[in-house]
Amino acid sequence: MDFILATNNMKKLEEMRRILSPLGVNVLTAKDLGITLPEVEETGSTFEENAFLKAENACSITGLPGIADDSGLCVDYLGGAPGIFSARFSGEHGNDEKNNDLLLEKLSGIPAEKRTAHYVCAVCCVFPNGKKITVRGECHGTIGFERDGNAGFGYDPLFIVNGKSFGRYTAQEKDKISHRGKALRLLRDELKSNAKWL
Ligand code: IMP
Repeated sequence: MDFILATNNMKKLEEMRRILSPLGVNVLTAKDLGITLPEVEETGSTFEENAFLKAENACSITGLPGIADDSGLCVDYLGGAPGIFSARFSGEHGNDEKNNDLLLEKLSGIPAEKRTAHYVCAVCCVFPNGKKITVRGECHGTIGFERDGNAGFGYDPLFIVNGKSFGRYTAQEKDKISHRGKALRLLRDELKSNAKWL
C-alpha cells in the first residue's frame, strides 16, 4: 500500500524510509507523485497537532494515507523552548547554524548539570476514511558547550547522549535511540498489529 510522506526534509525522509520500508509499506513523497504539497501553517500548540495538520493535508490532497512528523528540541533551562518553534528559533526557518548559535548564546555560562534537554517527535498517520494514528517518541540528553561532529541535522552537533554528540552518531546508531526512531517504530508496530490500517 502506498503512503504519502509530508516532508521536504531529505534527512527526515531518509530516517523515515529506513524504519518504515521493512513493513512493506511503499513510502512516497509529493515529488514521486509529480505534485507539490502546499505548505501547511503549523498553527497547532503541540507537536501532535502540527503533525496531524501536515498529515491531513497530504492525505486530503493525494487520497493516500498521509504520514507526517513534527519534532523539536525542548531545553529545560529555557522552560521547554524552542519546542514547537525549533526550526525557526532564530527567526529564520530552517537555519540550523543560526539556531545553534542562538541556543549556545542562551545557555552561555550555564553549567553542564543545568543543560538537560530532550528531543520530541510526534508522528501522525491520517487515512482517507478519517481514521488516524498518533505516536510520540522522546530522546533525553544534554546540550554541549560547542558543536561536535557534523552528522545528522538541526541541533545534532550540540545534543549529547551517552557522552557523545548526535553529530558523531552514525545514522543507524541514531535511529536506535532517537525520538523519531522511537515514534516510527511505534507507528510501525501499530500498523503491523492492526490489519485494519493496511
Ligand atoms: P519540524 O520540521 O517542524 O518538525 O521542525 C523540526 C526542527 O526541530 C528541525 O528543523 C530541527 O531544528 C529540530 N529537530 C528535530 N528533530 C531533530 C533531530 O533529529 N536532530 C536535530 N534537530 C532536530
